[in-house]
Amino acid sequence: MSWESTAVYYRLVNELVRQQLGGLHSADCVVRSVDFAQIEDLQREGSWDLAGKQLAEETRGLVAAGAELIVLCTNTMHKLAGEIEAASSAEFVHIADATAERIRRERRRRVGLLGTAYTMEQDFYVGRLRDRYGLDVLVPDAPDRQIVHDIIYDELCVGITTERSRTAYRTVIDRLEARGAEAIILGCTEIGLLVGAGDATVPVFDTTEMHAQAAVTRALGLPAG
Ligand code: GLU
Repeated sequence: MSWESTAVYYRLVNELVRQQLGGLHSADCVVRSVDFAQIEDLQREGSWDLAGKQLAEETRGLVAAGAELIVLCTNTMHKLAGEIEAASSAEFVHIADATAERIRRERRRRVGLLGTAYTMEQDFYVGRLRDRYGLDVLVPDAPDRQIVHDIIYDELCVGITTERSRTAYRTVIDRLEARGAEAIILGCTEIGLLVGAGDATVPVFDTTEMHAQAAVTRALGLPAG
């Protein structure tokens, strides 16, 4: 969610499997791609119960189709990770865990977080990074959060990337660095479509990449790292 980043995940997991197994190998996966407009309505209305029921239902559908490992291709909807985990006994690869484990391995502690307002402002994400991994998470100030959020929904989720928005993100990243961020988390799966390693002076952790990597690592039973 949106399909703009689902497409990136699909490419990444297939590339990673090919890297590991070679030849004509590709990821054996089932993709459930939803109508994102309906999900966004539920988010905006705060209908998280309904959204949770839907994600639980989708999870059962994936498991019925043969999935053994569940990957939810969005940071924001990890607010409902508990509903997904409760819906089946399939292993759930949490995007914040995948990201935090990598950041810890690279010995960074104070991180700047970019994402939707839900991700930056609610505790399900920041709290997990802090409480489970000891990360000190900096979020942009309110006007910057609004800019970051609006660009995600008005542009990136509908396939628009502009130099103007890239500059705006760079400015927000600069401010996080000035406050002491030792790394930047691209905590929304579409942000990597706009900015990357070249847009910060500290390391950039793209949750889409970390998550796809963790999913393939687990699916193939590879050692972490
Ligand atoms: N894909 C985005 C995320 O990672 C935002 C869209 C959504 O709400 O799922 O948070």
